[in-house]
Amino acid sequence: PTREVPALVVEGATVRFAGLTAMDAVSFTVAPGTIHALIGPNGAGKSTCFNVLSGVYRTASGCVRFGDVDVTALPPHRIAALGVARTFQNIVLTRGTVAHNLMLGRHTLTRAGFTATALRLPSAVREQRRHRERVREIAEFTGLGDRFDTQVDLLPYGDRKRVELARALCMEPKLLLLDEPVAGMNTAERVAMAQTITAIRDTLGISILIVEHDMGLIMRIADEVTVLDFGRRIGGGTPEHVQSDPAVIRAYLGT
Ligand code: ADP
Ligand code: MG
Repeated sequence: PTREVPALVVEGATVRFAGLTAMDAVSFTVAPGTIHALIGPNGAGKSTCFNVLSGVYRTASGCVRFGDVDVTALPPHRIAALGVARTFQNIVLTRGTVAHNLMLGRHTLTRAGFTATALRLPSAVREQRRHRERVREIAEFTGLGDRFDTQVDLLPYGDRKRVELARALCMEPKLLLLDEPVAGMNTAERVAMAQTITAIRDTLGISILIVEHDMGLIMRIADEVTVLDFGRRIGGGTPEHVQSDPAVIRAYLGT
């Protein structure tokens, strides 16, 4: 029987800052085509974990594999090129239209060099047109179709969060890291975002690792959950299992 290669394996990952262990031998696996939630109280090490996975922080020990590839020592751009895209806890967009921001997401996929593009060589023009078509599709998919030419500064908060997500999708990732995708959203925006996230899994087949404080949302959309507290993995499993795990409940109640 052929073994299915996990989308992501984190094995004994440890990260230390001066006098503080932000991740303490953390291990977990994300199965392909699933939504895996990383939860835990403030300071648990969730954002640190994302920074490790995207190559921004280095582990003191342990390793990270993306599919078959050991990415533990790779710089951020190499990891991104392998198909790992992320969104940030705080929105990071560039001034300009939605279309402009999404085209920036295509940057790593652009083959034509800067000069060919600047000279508007036919091959470069064709490539740009293909990118533009795909970006338009992704805008439709993420509910931004009628905002394509709108300046991002003029969009409501919920739509700006969507632009971040759409830009990450424009990198055609295999694994998507979402850091608090519904933080600051109202109920209607949360419901719509949850639908988009499950559609990314079900329609596009992309594996998703999500950090989110909205437990109701996690329980509805996650296939599997890993729980961190003070840098340690204190529990994990199905949402139902985690919800009734005494160690997890204790961590959240802070007793
Ligand atoms: P979470 O995202 O789960 O709230 P973080 O990963 O942001 O937690 O933080 C985990 C711990 O690591 C916290 O105690 C935080 O203060 C510390 N930490 C995070 N990043 C740094 C850094 N760059 N330098 C020093 N300490 C950090
Ligand atoms: Mg955080």
